[in-house]
Amino acid sequence: MNDWKNKLRASAARLMAGRYGPDQLNLAILMVSLAVTLIGTLTGLRLLVIAADALIVLAFFRMLSRNREARMAENRRYLTRTYKARKAAGEWLNRTKNRRQYHYYKCPKCHERLRVPRGVGNVTVTCRKCGEKFEKKA
Ligand SMILES: [Zn+2]
Repeated sequence: MNDWKNKLRASAARLMAGRYGPDQLNLAILMVSLAVTLIGTLTGLRLLVIAADALIVLAFFRMLSRNREARMAENRRYLTRTYKARKAAGEWLNRTKNRRQYHYYKCPKCHERLRVPRGVGNVTVTCRKCGEKFEKKA
């Protein structure tokens, strides 16, 4: 009964043997493609939908590529260039998630982001980076 599943798994393994496979850049390309498809569909701009399809083709080309070195270099470049943006997005997500437990403040002197547990009342916040002290209500 599981015979066809095993056959499918084996043929998938054969197809992917020596191929590059998925990576973070491909995931990003697919997400952009999804967003562009959505915008293209909502605005009725056929050109955007075609561009989104081209991105999917690009993602498949990269995934099935046998030139692992080139694909790894592309992925590394993507990760390096988007590092700050990805880090900022991650931190924003984290702050949003913890909004109920913490107040977030920026140090008036060095702009370091600091957090104070909610519900502690009036506190003197000491910056962990520059030592600046300031009053806040949390
Ligand atoms: Zn500071």
